Amino acid sequence: MNDVTPKRVGVLGAGQLALMLAEAAKTLGIAVVCAGQRGDCAERVAEVVVVDLDDPIQVAAFAGRADVVTIESENIHASVLTGLNLAPNAHAIGIAQDRLLEKRFFEQCGIGCAPFLPVDSAEDLQSAAKLLGLPAILKTRRMGYDGKGQIRLQSSEGLPTAFAELGGVPCILEGMVRFDAEVSLIAARGRAGEIVFYPLIENVHRDGILRRSTVPFAGATDALQQQGEAYLRRILEELDYVGVLAVEFFVVGGKLLANEMAPRVHNSGHWTIEGAKTSQFENHLRAILGMELGSTESVPTVMLNCIGEMPSEQETSATPGLHRHDYGKAGRPGRKVGHLTLAAGEGEAIGQWYARLNPEDQG
Ligand code: AMP
Repeated sequence: MNDVTPKRVGVLGAGQLALMLAEAAKTLGIAVVCAGQRGDCAERVAEVVVVDLDDPIQVAAFAGRADVVTIESENIHASVLTGLNLAPNAHAIGIAQDRLLEKRFFEQCGIGCAPFLPVDSAEDLQSAAKLLGLPAILKTRRMGYDGKGQIRLQSSEGLPTAFAELGGVPCILEGMVRFDAEVSLIAARGRAGEIVFYPLIENVHRDGILRRSTVPFAGATDALQQQGEAYLRRILEELDYVGVLAVEFFVVGGKLLANEMAPRVHNSGHWTIEGAKTSQFENHLRAILGMELGSTESVPTVMLNCIGEMPSEQETSATPGLHRHDYGKAGRPGRKVGHLTLAAGEGEAIGQWYARLNPEDQG
């Protein structure tokens, strides 16, 4: 198929995902141009054009400079995406940016998820809590990330104020899942419909922020991997999706319950840079450019996020085999500023680094 391979990729956004896409593009001889702001971290490796991502005219003008446009965040207003040569397509992004549409879509695909109800008012919340029971989680339908836009409701005490606390915007109430583990599955689908899958990834979150991703998932079985692959295949085919897709799941009693999907490269796939034959970033570029997808063959690997501050090079260089990815962002509490990757066999070093990066978890 694709006889003409476009060579210039436009990325809407210029944060760390755009940065790592641009790094992967370099080795493929592909130019990446990002739409963002001065000082965004992708500036170190790619051209960044100052674009107001809420302005359809500016976005369309930016898109005209690229052969194909992709995203690094799903939180982009749907109105700016129409009419672009976009991969993944705007319909897929529109579903992934709205938790209610996303959950209904999972159900339509026959993919189990936590029980949920739409909440559009404080009264809705009272009745939804009665129906679903507590504890439950109230989540804004849009613009939630890294645990933002969520309130955990342990008892009815917080019910009267929770809706207003989230800004009175459309929400969903979700039943609390008592999961055995959290995992994600990442796949890439090419323009001819071919699909490659990475192995299930085990994820540890705290305060809604990913802290650690491990491959392979300790509880992985062939059956679980196959269930995940069957689910992602349904999603990808139903959406005629092109590019990398990540779906986060809860593992409950040996089964997968979908939590959410990201229509883009994903934090839980950063380990693929060192741990897989072809990284998620390279496979995303290959997919959207109509190139052959690369092997996802992987070795056991652990990725640790650096939240708030980046350990110095001096400190990280003391651990042999540690790969340090510094996004060059200013440190700020709760902000992802970099990540470290290690071979999973380095158990002791991983434990020490996890403790160093997550002091609140200790004791
Ligand atoms: P989310 O932004 O939906 O991915 O939520 C962030 C994190 O909150 C998840 O990774 C889980 O650790 C936790 N969480 C979200 N929804 C639920 C749920 N329905 N039940 C239990 N934990 C949840």
